[in-house]
Amino acid sequence: MSDKKIPYKIYLEESEMPKQWYNVRADMKKKPAPLLNPATKKPMTADELSHVFCDELVKQELNETDRYIDIPEEIQEFYKMYRPSPLVRAYCLEKKLDTPAKIYYKFEGNNTSGSHKLNSAIAQAYYAKKQGLKGVTTETGAGQWGTALSMACSYFDLDCKVYMVKCSYEQKPFRREVMRTYGADVTPSPSSTTEVGRKILAEFPDTNGSLGCAISEAVEAATSQEGYRYVLGSVLSQVLLHQSVIGMESKIAMDKYGIKPDIIIGCAGGGSNLGGLISPFMGEKLRGEKDYRFIAVEPASCPSLTRGVYVYDFCDTGKVCPLQKMYTLGSGFMPSANHAGGLRYHGMSSILSELYDEGLMEAVSAEQTSVFEAAQKFARVEGILPAPESSHAIKCAIDEAMKCKETGEEKTILFGLTGTGYFDMYAYGAYNDGNMSDYIPTDEELQKSFDTLPKVD
Ligand SMILES: *Cc1c(COP(=O)(O)O)cnc(C)c1O
Repeated sequence: MSDKKIPYKIYLEESEMPKQWYNVRADMKKKPAPLLNPATKKPMTADELSHVFCDELVKQELNETDRYIDIPEEIQEFYKMYRPSPLVRAYCLEKKLDTPAKIYYKFEGNNTSGSHKLNSAIAQAYYAKKQGLKGVTTETGAGQWGTALSMACSYFDLDCKVYMVKCSYEQKPFRREVMRTYGADVTPSPSSTTEVGRKILAEFPDTNGSLGCAISEAVEAATSQEGYRYVLGSVLSQVLLHQSVIGMESKIAMDKYGIKPDIIIGCAGGGSNLGGLISPFMGEKLRGEKDYRFIAVEPASCPSLTRGVYVYDFCDTGKVCPLQKMYTLGSGFMPSANHAGGLRYHGMSSILSELYDEGLMEAVSAEQTSVFEAAQKFARVEGILPAPESSHAIKCAIDEAMKCKETGEEKTILFGLTGTGYFDMYAYGAYNDGNMSDYIPTDEELQKSFDTLPKVD
């Protein structure tokens, strides 16, 4: 359909919205390694997992065979409040870059949480409610996940307890207040409300907290109270499954106009938005139907894929969660105070780790100041103020578009614009003042963390 001008924004009709999530594991010849019980080192059974997670979510976590899973009606209804999300042709950015590349982005920032995280939060809250639970517990770093979950829990009238990484709790009071407005109970982590929190505080009284540590507290809070389960906003395969709605919508919209992306790019923290965006396209690649290049972009300060090792590791600092085989920097890795809060996790989704290990996906890392430079360039021509996390994908998309300018190739690039950056203005301020620095861990630092990896054979 090359003669038909592609609109700035491609929307779907309600009737065209996906009614199923796509489970990419069904098409993977080599499946991601199973979660292991940290005590026995044996694969976690559904029964063991059900002490921590909701029953239906355990089923989804372990489901490697069903290619499609129905999205329950109630979730479809909720999705209709803020979806379909627009697929935007970045005409203005293309013009600014003077590139022959065609650039598209899928914008997930059009909801109060300001990110894609609501797609999974609503699903997880729904299954908790259906199971008759009182509430859920979770951790939040930068705050987007906690906000998304608070919104989902208030919709289903569930209690929501959020352990928020202490430095974010202090630096992002507005995020905290959004969560409380939706009725969530927000505790800075580490806290004295849990055993693991008290232990960490005794050992490191001045700690700013970390995601891994907040996860440990949230898991303990869920397993020590009747009627509560723990929910996680990224990394797990169930979360990638829910986020596949991003990729499904993108694919339906692109198919409608006969557009085939050559390169698909996403930022990678725990891997949920990237996994969700690429899933249906990766499915075609795995089945040998079409070929695409997939690129994960991570911060140079927390480079799990590009500098980590592919082994079993703990998902949390407190070592209470199951062991997962993934690209990891070690659960004890304490990332520097990098501004891309949502990308500061030591590990990576087991699905993406396996795809990367098999060479089906590429990965690059980007330094903070170059990411903000890209963010500013994008904001000035496309209007949207991007989240620092999302700006990693923007940076890579611009780099690829500039390569096209050199070679004259008219490649089609699709990237995930996961959210908006209104709560990250201190970071933008540091960039605007020229006070932003780049931090890259040394090999020695990483080795020190690798030395503490659990031994599994
Ligand atoms: C949480 C978050 C991310 C990173 O999480 P993934 O699970 O890797 O997708 C990226 N962008 C935004 C805006 C986020 O809130």
